[in-house]
Amino acid sequence: MKTVFAVRETDPRETRAALIPEVAKKMAALGLNVQVESGLGLRADLPDELYREAGATVVTDRTAALAEADIVLRVRKPDAAELPSLKPGALHLSFLDPFNEKELLHKLAEAKVSAVSLEMIPRTTLAQKMDALSSQANLAGYAAVVMAADRMSKILPMMMTPAGTLSPARFFIIGVGVAGLQAIATAKRLGARVDAFDTRPVVEEQVKSLGAKFVKVDLGDTGQTAQGYAKELTPEQMEKQRQGMAKACAQADVVITTAKLFGRPAPKIVTADMLTQMRHGSILVDLAVESGGNVEGAKLGEEVITENGVRIIGHENIEGYFAQPASQMLASNFYNFIEHFWDSEKGEFEYRLDDEILKGCLLTRDGQIIHERFKSA
Ligand code: NAD
Repeated sequence: MKTVFAVRETDPRETRAALIPEVAKKMAALGLNVQVESGLGLRADLPDELYREAGATVVTDRTAALAEADIVLRVRKPDAAELPSLKPGALHLSFLDPFNEKELLHKLAEAKVSAVSLEMIPRTTLAQKMDALSSQANLAGYAAVVMAADRMSKILPMMMTPAGTLSPARFFIIGVGVAGLQAIATAKRLGARVDAFDTRPVVEEQVKSLGAKFVKVDLGDTGQTAQGYAKELTPEQMEKQRQGMAKACAQADVVITTAKLFGRPAPKIVTADMLTQMRHGSILVDLAVESGGNVEGAKLGEEVITENGVRIIGHENIEGYFAQPASQMLASNFYNFIEHFWDSEKGEFEYRLDDEILKGCLLTRDGQIIHERFKSA
């Protein structure tokens, strides 16, 4: 019987767990021996007892469990020093930040680990149920709105009362991928008036279908990559975009930026000059802050207040702000991935190396970096 081991996160910023009890039960039903490190789900309010009740073994000797595991699950990239403890040939599933972690990829290969990078799971219909970037971005979009609502001195919905009428708050969402769409939907549900912008023209319809208004800026040819990601704008297009965004930012009570470029630093969209035109008390939540930020002056892990009273929120790990649903979604992504490649007769993970999903996200195997994009790393 093969063993799956979910490791407790060591990074103090990480709140999420790679496995929740309900999904541990499903993994056991697949024929896996399920082990979790003690304390795994504590920050998501999932004590060890719940994992035991679900049939998992709770272990305290992390190194011994790593040496036994055929499949290792964790949220964040592993510490390189831990890799020699892993069983050669073990399947390792986690976010890996592969564009910035070339050295780590070599270490994973050296340890003869088969490392899957969650970031590289293709954004296809078939892979949707395993797509951790989406499942986590969705919750980040929700958290951004809730966080902004909590910091505002205003309320979101319109209220008509005998004492007078309160007008709805105005939200402006820049970047309408998975996080942006959820931010729009959440702000609308809470009664705000929402405007949004994205460089991918296909987004306009999606924005309208959520009852929000699409801000039009003529940038010429923008398009998107085959995977559906945004292309980088030219400096001239960026300048035009900033001019187009300035008015919408100045009118907004809350601006949420989610604009990212896959594998590259995020574009700087909201400049210091644009911030000076915003009202005292308005809020900016920068969801791209971990990849460089969309907002000039945003600081990772900090809330900055500008001279004119604009609060810029650069929350770290906003995906994990609501740790329990984020862990639930992530654990399901892991389960769906394993289940998709599970050989139930042999009771093991089947490496179908010609499969589009596996080809997309398996970075190392048999001592080599095998992924085309990182081979030359
Ligand atoms: P992302 O996190 O990479 O970027 C967020 C958004 O920022 C994107 O919509 C992007 O177009 C936008 N952006 C980039 N530069 C910008 C700029 N200068 N100004 C304004 N906006 C800018 O995106 P994501 O949420 O990971 O989604 C990426 C793509 O994948 C989308 O097309 C999405 O629909 C697609 N997707 C497909 C599936 C699927 O089919 N299974 C699942 C998830 C996502």
